[in-house]
Amino acid sequence: MALTPNQNLHDFMTRYAPVCVLTGAGLSVASGLGTYRNDDGQWTRQQPISGQDFRTKVEARKRYWARSYVGWPSVENAKPNRAHYALVKLEKSGLLTALVTQNVDGLHTLAGQHKTIDLHGNLHRVICLNCGQRLQRKRMQSMLLEYNPILGNLRGVDAPDGDSDVDWSKSGTQSHQKFPPDDDAIDSTILSRLIIPPCPHCDGMLKPDVVFFGENVERKIVDSCFESLERAGALLIAGSSLMVYSGYRFAKRAAEINLPIAIINRGITRADSLATLRLHTDCGDALQFATE
Ligand SMILES: [Zn+2]
Repeated sequence: MALTPNQNLHDFMTRYAPVCVLTGAGLSVASGLGTYRNDDGQWTRQQPISGQDFRTKVEARKRYWARSYVGWPSVENAKPNRAHYALVKLEKSGLLTALVTQNVDGLHTLAGQHKTIDLHGNLHRVICLNCGQRLQRKRMQSMLLEYNPILGNLRGVDAPDGDSDVDWSKSGTQSHQKFPPDDDAIDSTILSRLIIPPCPHCDGMLKPDVVFFGENVERKIVDSCFESLERAGALLIAGSSLMVYSGYRFAKRAAEINLPIAIINRGITRADSLATLRLHTDCGDALQFATE
């Protein structure tokens, strides 16, 4: 009798563990967090802010923090789901060399995963671009409100990575913008008055401790991921379309060193042609079954 896809994954794990795991946004969908792409790997919304715009354009920075002020609680309050817990179980059983995640929501760590490599950083922290000190995002939230009480009136619809589409018309000003607003339609009064809190230590510029679009992952992080891959018997990819090169390169490297690759993702991925085993299914279902 033919094996079901989940049985195939179970078989794959039994045969090749320990595995190096790479996870993406699809894993956190069941925790209520959105993704940027549809099942065809296409953008479903405007591209997120680029690192360059954040650093060089004050308006872009203000817009980022205003949207982020509204969107942050959805990340702060998100809870890990059964896919996260199945991966913790895998680690406890000694079947995992490392868990590399493209997610910035911190949910693997919250679930109790220890061997996590945050490839793109973590939204729960903010870093000073001048002195390098880090502070909790929670603290930034309080500072943002302290400097700009009007932010407390803003409402919006949650967007991926703690972003939000802000309903600027409910900000207590007289604007009547369409909702959700496009970038040109954002209330200029609020933005021009917005004060971005500086670093409490040196007054430097604060930035979420994440790799923004267009920025590179630090070399030492990439190297530690490659090293975990080399110690593994296979690569398991869960919930990522691998459309971003920073994730795709691990599939490429695994193929180069002849590691079998299993991919669990509902939609297409950039590494489909490299996969030994391909599951078009829910990450929670598949991982739970594979770790039983
Ligand atoms: Zn500083």
